[in-house]
Amino acid sequence: MSATATVDFNAMSDDAFRAEARELFEKEYPDNMRFLPRRMSWAESKDWWVTLSKRGWLAPNWPVEHGGMGLDPGKLIIYWEETERAGIGRMPDQGITMVGPTLIRFGNDAQRAQYLPKILSGENVWCQGYSEPNAGSDLASLRTEAVLDGDHYVINGSKIWTSMAHNATNIYVLVRTDKNVKQQRGISFLLLDMKTPGITLRTIRNIAGHEEFCQVFFDNVRTHKDNLVGKLNEGWTIAKGLLTFERLNIGSPRRPLQAFEHLDPLARAQGLFNDPGFVDRYTVLKMDLNDLGSLYQRFVDKARRGEALGPDISMLKVFAMDTYQKLAELLLEAGAEYGAFADEVTLGDEKIDLMSSFYTSRPGTIYGGSNEIQRNILSKYVLQLPS
Ligand SMILES: Cc1cc2nc3c(=O)[nH]c(=O)nc-3n(C[C@H](O)[C@H](O)[C@H](O)COP(=O)(O)OP(=O)(O)OC[C@H]3O[C@@H](n4cnc5c(N)ncnc54)[C@H](O)[C@@H]3O)c2cc1C
Repeated sequence: MSATATVDFNAMSDDAFRAEARELFEKEYPDNMRFLPRRMSWAESKDWWVTLSKRGWLAPNWPVEHGGMGLDPGKLIIYWEETERAGIGRMPDQGITMVGPTLIRFGNDAQRAQYLPKILSGENVWCQGYSEPNAGSDLASLRTEAVLDGDHYVINGSKIWTSMAHNATNIYVLVRTDKNVKQQRGISFLLLDMKTPGITLRTIRNIAGHEEFCQVFFDNVRTHKDNLVGKLNEGWTIAKGLLTFERLNIGSPRRPLQAFEHLDPLARAQGLFNDPGFVDRYTVLKMDLNDLGSLYQRFVDKARRGEALGPDISMLKVFAMDTYQKLAELLLEAGAEYGAFADEVTLGDEKIDLMSSFYTSRPGTIYGGSNEIQRNILSKYVLQLPS
């Protein structure tokens, strides 16, 4: 299904690559699916998934030999920026963002051969089973257990906030495989088919009324021991491996900038530039956005140079999501009575979905590690304050 990229994207200039990405995303992506206030379901995403896959543009972060684009960090960031600029909805993309890179780095040849092509073709859609009802920020305290019985692990427990699990064909889970060692050392990483007997789902509606998550229950679920990724009891290292880069992605100023771009015409239409209170907040947020852009660029430059990103990346995540939420709130206030409308409203020359930024910004301070936890990381590992 997927065309292995034959072009060396990394040899292109940034401007040329950006122009190619922009043209593809503007021409091929359906206009009625842009800037959705929610994640796309699999049914909505499938055509776009296949379009990207056929062009070899589905997996920008995978190496070329596995069917990806093999982008270096600088080009990858451009890819994300153009995706956001074009308002492309978030697909059930865990296979691309998490499972593929994990199997490429920690899996074996058989696992790569079994799973990678099915991710690219869209045959397998993955979800992430990390959080549990009593293990979110403190993920290492997770209790879903896997016990070896002959050639199979038998799994019992429950995962929660599993995004788009009801659309997924497969789930990757962190499970406890040793209760007698330090918490982080007794965790393993398993792959499962969602149709395995003993797996059941309960969908959960989010604040916007969309069924975006599930609680997933495991009742004596048996999976072959070949589905263990990496070594037994070393799943924690795998799980942590990709978090830093995820924070760089979340810290991009694109999302807050999009909200800000709506604020300007809205404020003009509402006559708010005559209101000193509004102008005060608007100016502070505009300056924050400039600072966020500079901070983001600093980390991007570091990633481009191939340097490891340290715990200070948490600062970017906190600042980006705080700014995004403040902008989304100001947008709602500036929209006055229209701020309560669930769909697009026309204000002046502008058609705006005011709730969209609000809904997409709310969970930003929770996922990817909550902002409180990021502040703890900053105080401990960057400022080295006593805990
Ligand atoms: C939109 C969205 C999508 C998600 N998708 C997935 C998914 O696909 N798969 C998955 O596994 N999980 C997913 N999650 C779950 C997410 O990872 C957790 O919600 C997150 O880790 C926080 O855990 P919690 O909800 O249990 O909150 P808790 O850990 O209970 O935290 C509650 C509050 O207490 C604060 N807090 C906790 N500990 C401390 C501390 N030590 N110091 C200071 N403050 C603290 C937190 O910051 C938070 O404000 C998703 C969450 C959201 C919002």
